[in-house]
Order: sequence, then structure tokens, then C-alpha cells
Amino acid sequence: MGGNEELWQAVLSEIELQISKPNFVTWLKNSRLIEAQEGAALIALPNHFAKEWVEAKYNKLILGTIRNHDGSVRKIEYVVEGTLIKNNPKSRPVPEGDEKQLSFQEMRVDPLTNLNPRYTLNSFVVGSSNELAYSASTAVVNSVGVKYNPLFIYGGVGLGKTHLIQAIGNEIAGVYGGKVKVKYVTSEKFTNDVVWALRNNRAEDIKSAYRLVDVLIIDDIQFIGGKEKTEEEFFHTFNALHEQNKQIIISSDRPPQAIPTLEERLRSRFGGGIVVDISVPDYETRVAIIKTKLQERGAAIGDELIDVIAKRFQRNIREIEGILNKVIFYQLNYQKPLNLAGIEKIIDETIEHSKPNITPAQIIKAVALFFEISPTNLIGKGRSKEFIEPRQITIYLMREMLNMSYPYIASKIGNRDHTTAIYSYKKIADSVDKDPVLSNKLNMIKETVSKSV
Ligand code: ADP
Ligand code: MG
Repeated sequence: MGGNEELWQAVLSEIELQISKPNFVTWLKNSRLIEAQEGAALIALPNHFAKEWVEAKYNKLILGTIRNHDGSVRKIEYVVEGTLIKNNPKSRPVPEGDEKQLSFQEMRVDPLTNLNPRYTLNSFVVGSSNELAYSASTAVVNSVGVKYNPLFIYGGVGLGKTHLIQAIGNEIAGVYGGKVKVKYVTSEKFTNDVVWALRNNRAEDIKSAYRLVDVLIIDDIQFIGGKEKTEEEFFHTFNALHEQNKQIIISSDRPPQAIPTLEERLRSRFGGGIVVDISVPDYETRVAIIKTKLQERGAAIGDELIDVIAKRFQRNIREIEGILNKVIFYQLNYQKPLNLAGIEKIIDETIEHSKPNITPAQIIKAVALFFEISPTNLIGKGRSKEFIEPRQITIYLMREMLNMSYPYIASKIGNRDHTTAIYSYKKIADSVDKDPVLSNKLNMIKETVSKSV
């Protein structure tokens, strides 16, 4: 046995005692320590899903255990088995290709612009449902601030608004480099900034920060309707930018005139540019989107499965992506293609078990399972550090998945004060965009919640 192999066996046998048997078998049994040098241990997992899961869930445990044996190890890197450069003595992982699976590293949000690089115009599939919005977007890229200002895009949930407006930002940032300052914010973030500034007497800071940008992208503007101070601040920012021919891009789930609480003066400003909608994609567009997504993930499924998915999901592309994730997971896990009956079953279960049936108890169970702590501890009074993040995540998910009120959430989490629920929700909500590991954890827990229903 080589030194690495021996070391890894020792580490695994300790870990085996600390996590549940099914988890050990599913995630770690087929892992391998490739090397441990210069303070970094390189561990191979059999597929992407296992890599992401182990990284999100067991990194701390593995690092701690390995350090008991080899104190020089300070960090761990994970790779998918088979993606190493064979001849390179240092055997560093091959960077995953653009058109292959996007690693979480590559999906990291740019801290300056807030843009997620995964949203590009290139990866946006154009069909009759979105071609107007798309061509207005390319026009904006080609004549920033001049032609369509503001650009207002509206449409239903999961139809590509965020994708498109972020793609415009990425495109402009790419073409003009640092010379044109792009900033993407959700209207929630904008509201938080305004509230913070008012509370801390820093209104001027916020003003100047926002007014320095050349392209301001605001997502889901419908949420600022009715928030007077925020509307006021946005109105002034809008005017200041617009006067200097700075580009403003806005998305909303409905047209300006249908946001009832929006002040008239703001509404008429939006009408001064161009207002375009994105509607539900037709069958051909859905098929094209599915194929693009599969290609991005380096996965393949049969045409008849694509047909079934495109026929059964007509109104929301995010749901289509959810199904594709499940199919890909199935195929990786069982190492065989899914058949027609299989896909129908997955879709039925997904539809049947979507949101309305989820209960707080299921969220508690899923979080407890993920962090391997007991549900009683999770919602109990214990203040031990290991319970803090799981508790905050539970609160966040109850709010996100169930739309529960803070007092109600607090009552479910060991009768805490509702301000604790608010604080916890904010804590996670603020970090999730910046922290791919956290966002990965949340996705995995959500997945377990919907499966458990
Ligand atoms: P919205 O903001 O309208 O709710 P998103 O932009 O978040 O929707 O889109 C949901 C998901 O669907 C995203 O992952 C996005 O990449 C994908 N998507 C939507 N429309 C398209 C399209 N035309 N081409 C490729 N992907 C799309
Ligand atoms: Mg969106």
C-alpha cells in the first residue's frame, strides 16, 4: 500500500464512525487521496455530484481528520476522478472546459459588478417568446445609454429575465473592460442599501456609490413598489444617471402600469425608454433550451426524453432545469440512461411534490440530516456553535420555500424571538449570492426536502 492510500484508509475508517452508513457508502466509499503535498490534499471523487456534495458537506470533517494524521495539511482540493493531467508530475486537475460542466468556482459572482458569469447572451436561446427582448438587449450592448434607456423587461417567473439582464451586463463589462462600470442589484438589495444608509446617516455614500456606475441593472423592480424612501431614492438615482446618458436596465414580473403601488412619476420614467416582454416559450424553443443546458453540463439524454420534458413543462424554464438536474443525477448515480417510464415518474413526483405540500417539519428533517445533527438539537435551545449555521439555514428555507411569517417561523424554531428569525434570514440571504459553497448547500438541502415529501 502506498503512503497516500494508507493515510486515506486511516482517515476513512475514522470518518466512517462519525457519519451515517448510507452517507458514507454513497459519498465517500469510492474516494481516493491522490496526493498530499505543500499543505494541500487532493481528493478524487467518482463524479461531479459527489464532488460537490462532499465539498459542501464534509470538507471540515475530512480536513480535521486528515490533520490528525498529517498536521501539514491546511486545505483540501477536490476533483472528479479521471480529470487529471496524466503526465504532469504535480497532477493538478485540468480546468473544466467552458462547454463542459460549470464548476462552482467558475460560477462565482463578480464582487464589483455583482454579475454571475454563467449568464451570457451566447447561452440565451432565442425564440418568438423572447426575440424582442433579446434584440433590445443587443441594441443596448451596442449603444450603451443612447438607444433604449431605460430598457424595461417584464415577464413571468423562470422565463429568463435575470439571465438576459445579467447577460447584457456581462457583455458590456466584457467589451468595454473596466472602462464602463456595470452594477447589478436586486431591488431587495437596493432597498437594503437605502435602509442601511438612512439608519446610519450615510445617505451620501449610497448616492455617490450608485451614481458612479455607467450601467445600473435592477432586478425585480416590482418589490420596491410601496416602499416610499426606496422609491424616492431610486427616482433620484434614476434621474441622475439618466441625465448623464448612463444606461439603466430594469426587470419586473409585470409591466410598469401593473405595479399598483409604484409612484406615477417613476412609472412614466420607465415608459420613456423601451418596454418589452418575455412570454412563455413555444415547444421548439423549449427543446432548444433543454439541449443547450445539457450541452453546458456535458450531459446527454435521448430525444424522446427531451420531448417529454418539453411537453410537460411549458411555463417555467427553471423547472425544466430542475428536472434536468434530476435526470443527470440519476444517470450518474446508476450509470445508465433513464428510460421513458423513468422520466415520467420523476416528473410526476416532482409535480406532485412541489411546494404546496412541503411542511416545516420536512425542512427541519432535511437540514438535520444534512448536518447530521438531531432535529431536537437543531431547533433546541443549545447554543453550541455547530447548531448556528444549520439553524439559520432552517429559518431561511422556511421563509424561502414556505413564505412563512417571521413570528411563525420563530415559533417553530424553539419559540425564539421573531427578531432572531429576521436576523437569521438576512444573514443567509446576504451571503448566498457571494458564497457558492453556501448556495450549493442550500440547493442540496432543498433537493432533499422536495424528495422527502
Ligand atoms: P426569471 O428571472 O425570469 O425568473 P431566470 O433568468 O432566473 O428567470 O431563468 C431561470 C433559468 O432558466 C435560468 O437558469 C436561465 O439560465 C434559464 N433560462 C431562461 N430562459 C432561457 C433562455 N431563453 N435560454 C437559456 N436559458 C434560459
Ligand atoms: Mg429573476
